Amino acid sequence: MEYSSYNVNTPQWREITVGSHLPAELRKLAEIAHNLWWTWNDDAKKLYCDLDSELWKEVEQNPVLFLERINYEKLVALAHDENFVYKMDAVYSAFKKYVDVEPDHQRPSIAYFSMEYGLDEVLKIYSGGLGMLAGDYLKEASDSNVDLCAIGLLYRYGYFDQSLSMDGQQTVNYKAQNFGQLPIEKVMQPDGKQLVIHVPYADSFVVHANVWKASVGRIPLYLLDTDNELNSEFDRPITHHLYGGDWENRLKQEILLGIGGMITLRALGITKDVYHCNEGHAALINIQRLCDYINGGLNFGQAMELVRASSLYTVHTPVPAGHDYFDEGLFNKYMKGYPGKLGITWDNLMDLGRHNPGDKEERFCMSVFACKTCQEVNGVSKLHKSVSQQMFAPIWKGYFPEENHVGYVTNGVHLPTWCAAEWKKLFKDNFDENFFCDQSNQKIWEAVYGIPDEEIWNTRLKQKAKLLDYIKSKCSKDWLRTQIDPALSVSIFERFNPDALLIGFGRRFATYKRAHLLFTDIDRLARIVNNPKYPVQFIFAGKAHPNDGAGQGLIKQIVEISRRPEFLGKIIFLENYDMDLARHLISGVDIWMNTPTRLAEASGTSGEKALMNGVLNFSVLDGWWYEGYRKDAGWALTDKRTYQNEQYQNQLDAEAIYYLLEHDILPLYYEHGGKNYSEDWVKYIKNSIAQIAPHFTMKRQLDDYYDRFYNKLSEHFHILAADNFAKAKMMADWKANVRSRWDAIEIKSIEAGNGLNATVEAGKEYEVTVVVDEKGLDDAIGIESVIIRREDGQDHIYEVIPLLPVSKNGNLYTFKATSGIFNAGSFKQAFRMYPKNALLPHRQDFCYVRWF
Ligand SMILES: *Cc1c(COP(=O)(O)O)cnc(C)c1O
Repeated sequence: MEYSSYNVNTPQWREITVGSHLPAELRKLAEIAHNLWWTWNDDAKKLYCDLDSELWKEVEQNPVLFLERINYEKLVALAHDENFVYKMDAVYSAFKKYVDVEPDHQRPSIAYFSMEYGLDEVLKIYSGGLGMLAGDYLKEASDSNVDLCAIGLLYRYGYFDQSLSMDGQQTVNYKAQNFGQLPIEKVMQPDGKQLVIHVPYADSFVVHANVWKASVGRIPLYLLDTDNELNSEFDRPITHHLYGGDWENRLKQEILLGIGGMITLRALGITKDVYHCNEGHAALINIQRLCDYINGGLNFGQAMELVRASSLYTVHTPVPAGHDYFDEGLFNKYMKGYPGKLGITWDNLMDLGRHNPGDKEERFCMSVFACKTCQEVNGVSKLHKSVSQQMFAPIWKGYFPEENHVGYVTNGVHLPTWCAAEWKKLFKDNFDENFFCDQSNQKIWEAVYGIPDEEIWNTRLKQKAKLLDYIKSKCSKDWLRTQIDPALSVSIFERFNPDALLIGFGRRFATYKRAHLLFTDIDRLARIVNNPKYPVQFIFAGKAHPNDGAGQGLIKQIVEISRRPEFLGKIIFLENYDMDLARHLISGVDIWMNTPTRLAEASGTSGEKALMNGVLNFSVLDGWWYEGYRKDAGWALTDKRTYQNEQYQNQLDAEAIYYLLEHDILPLYYEHGGKNYSEDWVKYIKNSIAQIAPHFTMKRQLDDYYDRFYNKLSEHFHILAADNFAKAKMMADWKANVRSRWDAIEIKSIEAGNGLNATVEAGKEYEVTVVVDEKGLDDAIGIESVIIRREDGQDHIYEVIPLLPVSKNGNLYTFKATSGIFNAGSFKQAFRMYPKNALLPHRQDFCYVRWF
């Protein structure tokens, strides 16, 4: 089997100062090029494209490279072209008007950390959904004008480019990025040199990282790269590949992102109210933040109060295997210097990353560490919240999964990035003028019902035609390279029907996404795609991680099927799914399909992008679609799993897909009733835009983060930090006090009207009294009665009844409550004791529990 996971040549660097050869009149072009604002402003892109559309294509729409390559005589002539200068000035003044606004200081300020950012295909520092989300987030933070800065890594090779051999084998190619030709800039020091930070690794050495800045509208994104000659040959490649190296390199990257990220902020004099880890990769920021507070004179417990109160961890992974775990030996190799700085033992540090403190077999898990050092934790959809509560249950023993303090914010997408220019224009012309600043307002979107059907349909057709052109030119290029038989490629396009219903499937080829589901019954699928009355075609795209053999197998399987005579031109696999291809696909197809294994799609966002372009979703009710689906606005496979057996479940789901296609989707698309389009289909599009789209914009997501997390965290942090950290110190002392007395606390008596454990009559109330010796603690204990019931083979909370302290006699506190069960059936009851303090943000913040 031919397979290479690396294909790397040696870069040959030249220092480049972009823009130096630009005539003074055209310097504005360089200024615009160096702010990623152009990625979501069509007029700016058009400015470059209109200058030389061939070159614009050749440089893959990178304006920095474009300006470097453009012919000098042409530039000189342009500088005197009034028409061009007028257009440039218009774009430039819109740009300046936008970026020169001061950030809104009313809302808490945020430092945001992520391993990847998908801002544009020219900046190869992303691989998939996680990065796309982070990139879209920064763009919305800019549009919403919040005070946010971000930290990430600048990868020399980024994630890989995918090409496919004749038989569908994925080949992985890495192309070195020349940083001088990217829309980023060096962060300079007063001495005129680039800022370099020095990050301690282990005790003995430091890694030097160059600091770069990508401007995302008003938002600075600081990027670190270790390709610095001061570093050893082992450390220069730390930032070469995204998700490419071994576990050791991964740890080195996460140290750079977390600890290096904080050192960078300090070097730049930046402090923020809230620190947000986008996924667990960045959680080591909290090690450095603890060190900083301790250097300032606090102890570990006090520092932890402050760090927790200002940290949010967003988890994107639904399965424990998806988290990063580091062997103790490896972790020790790089982190052994930290216990000394923190004033704790090595085992204490390891335990912060373990589900079971003291279990020497357990590796250090970044997500566990994040949960233990961040006050707030959130999943990325409503369903993913409960999945995460389950997933993290081993960390917070003493509580049931549904009690765990994990919230959610459902992922959204940045509308101006993903909505095609024609749709944006249609919305602008027909919607309220506040539309772009008030995107979550469903009332505004309802104006889509007033747009004539023909206009909606023609806009769709335009996008579809664009996609078909794109596919043709892409395939002829790709297939030339992979030497596909020219006769085959001719017959693929001959058989391709531009008027057929077009269904797209594009995403990472992880097995849980079940790209192969459609191919469960090949004969039936062949009948469907070859029905002359209702023709339908499928386009697939996606990369599999180089270490994911199963994912690569799926790609191969689909490519092979697409080469069979009965599927030629009906199923097409496109190489190298990236932002550019995604943009064309999600706006050009008629239906966007997603068929993940239930509860495995944390959110998914590509369907939301499709939504903004009048494309209908057909998906399992999982992730965002569980919340998004509305009747007559798309199609859904049930969220209920029928079989535990995976194969049976796949067959059932495939059957449902075929059935819906044959009986609902295809007739709806093709029943025209005399018109040249289906009115009902347009109705579905309008429903989908009016009722679903307003809930899945990045604006809604950003506002949710403020409403549910940032505001709360910032407020709590400032309470703890006021008066020289008075309340943080108080809470640290209080916790130490509770810890030291916890085991001594005595339950003196329990009395219940039902005599405990006895059969009770439904609806009958009885009194419960508990007497506790708090052993010198002052009203620091809470007591509750917990009644559980067994459902679906698992214990679930039926009711939690707090007992209230009613009297005190020395150290003895008496608690009382009235209890009763109103449903008949079989229940279990127990009592639970926990530490109680008005300043505790939630129970898992100080997870001491004693059951009795
Ligand atoms: C949007 C996007 C993704 C994420 O899509 P999912 O639906 O979350 O799988 C991945 N890759 C690219 C290039 C994208 O544009």
